[in-house]
Amino acid sequence: TIGLLALDSNGNLSGACTTSGMAWKMHGRIGDSPLIGSGLFVDNEVGAASGTGVGEEIIRVCGSHLVVENMRRGDSPEQACKNTVERIVANKDSLENIQVGFIAINKQGQVGGYSIQQGFNYAVHDETDNQLIDSKHLI
Ligand code: ASP
Repeated sequence: TIGLLALDSNGNLSGACTTSGMAWKMHGRIGDSPLIGSGLFVDNEVGAASGTGVGEEIIRVCGSHLVVENMRRGDSPEQACKNTVERIVANKDSLENIQVGFIAINKQGQVGGYSIQQGFNYAVHDETDNQLIDSKHLI
């Protein structure tokens, strides 16, 4: 998945995502990316989020919507992503072969990300800098 989140100079949030889906997917499978609230969610009063990884896991918790709702309750973008990742892994016997990562931005322009496994990177661009950030991860 490629997820893009933006805050423009008027303070308006937007987002987009695209995906090739999962390898060996069943014919007709719908992943998280086309489902608003799962692979992408934008609330112009609070923040925006996008997810990548095993779409079924993201859909199960309406992941990107949950990230935004966590920010609405006061979480930083990174904490909101972390809480959502923890929600996904709760009650799982094994995390082997499961990767899910989220990125988020809030109305103030703070950004964050979090994933289950290592190796999830995201890029941040603002008027002064470009950064590639190796996200924090659960395991
Ligand atoms: N989230 C996508 C899906 O499950 C896979 C990806 O990360 O591109 O369809």
